Amino acid sequence: MQSTEIDKLIKLTAKLPALGARSARRIVLHLLKKKETDLPALIAALQDVADHIQKCPICGNFDTQEICSICSDLSRDNESVCVVQDVADLWAMERVGLYKGQYHVLGGILSALDGVTPDDLNIEGLFKRLSQGQIKEVILALPATIDGQITAHYLLSRLKTLPIKVTTLAQGIPLGAELDYMDDGTIQMALSARKEL
Ligand SMILES: [Zn+2]
Repeated sequence: MQSTEIDKLIKLTAKLPALGARSARRIVLHLLKKKETDLPALIAALQDVADHIQKCPICGNFDTQEICSICSDLSRDNESVCVVQDVADLWAMERVGLYKGQYHVLGGILSALDGVTPDDLNIEGLFKRLSQGQIKEVILALPATIDGQITAHYLLSRLKTLPIKVTTLAQGIPLGAELDYMDDGTIQMALSARKEL
């Protein structure tokens, strides 16, 4: 039997994505064994993130500054915007380092099963940005899953009415794959071979 404190920590850890009860127990046990070193460092890092990281009101990225470092970087191309499902996909694109435009994080994708509608996503924010007239190309970098493609088609149907070029990542991405799990080379290939819709 664990103490209430340990039990609570295991339960909280088990709620994290990709972790189950067994992994949570192993992580908590590791932290207890490294109580003098890893645990204080983790506490400090969590506190730092809680205190300083905010969501960029323009693109939805996370950063220490209100307008994120990508949106405020004047050397980046402000005529193209890459639409991604999640910040993890933005990070994946940035790891490749090939794309130098802007991003827009939807915060999810449409899903009939999970009841996710356009109102639940940061879609109006995207069209508000597009209405300012500076953006000439929208790159839809959404997952090659059924929901990802439904989301892409929904956006495309609305984008068609605007004088904007719409491209999508090229095929070659395995069916069911998410950007965050893809190797850098695959993302790089898909981005270079993007095609107009
Ligand atoms: Zn931003």
